[in-house]
Amino acid sequence: MSYQVRFYKGDYRERQAQANADGCVAYVEHHFNSSANPDAGYAVVITGSNASRTSKAWGRWYARAVADEFGIRTGGDDGIMVGGYGGRGDSNIYYTRMPAILLEPLFASNPQHAEWIRSEDGRERLARILAESIRRFFPGGGLVGFSVGHKYKTSRPDDRGAPVYGGGTEADHAEMVLQRAADMLTGDAQSVATDESGPSTSEHHHH
Ligand SMILES: [Zn+2]
Repeated sequence: MSYQVRFYKGDYRERQAQANADGCVAYVEHHFNSSANPDAGYAVVITGSNASRTSKAWGRWYARAVADEFGIRTGGDDGIMVGGYGGRGDSNIYYTRMPAILLEPLFASNPQHAEWIRSEDGRERLARILAESIRRFFPGGGLVGFSVGHKYKTSRPDDRGAPVYGGGTEADHAEMVLQRAADMLTGDAQSVATDESGPSTSEHHHH
């Protein structure tokens, strides 16, 4: 199946309106979690308070896959928080007409998680899970909307989200994961699909 990916910028409401106008089949906003407690560390996905069954199932599948991949637990209600943290996050995806999830796969404030976030290998694993979740839940292909959390807002152009322990920002690292996932779904989609059973990329696989 063929996918196109478009990155949406501007304030969150505007991004969602553009994705609606473009007829996206799915919409993903990527964040990393953060806490004052450095031990906090779980995978969770926020869905809108009006989320469809597909959004919830997709979010749960993604959170479970991340938890299994990194050996951590899922947060929320079996991996999802419907309507966000007391409403925080809800409006980032509430206005989409297509299934939408807001990812909080790892904690930028947790030293072990930050090591994964800051490594190319860790981001590759996150991107692969995201791309696989999209292929699984949207097998018909189509246009997928990506949104980098915090970055590119017209109202707060300097926002980059939480600092990542050891250096860098939540938004810049989220953007790298989304870029990689976009490559997997689009330009490199053929080779990724072909390579799964071939030896050429086996060194990139982590089981
Ligand atoms: Zn964030």
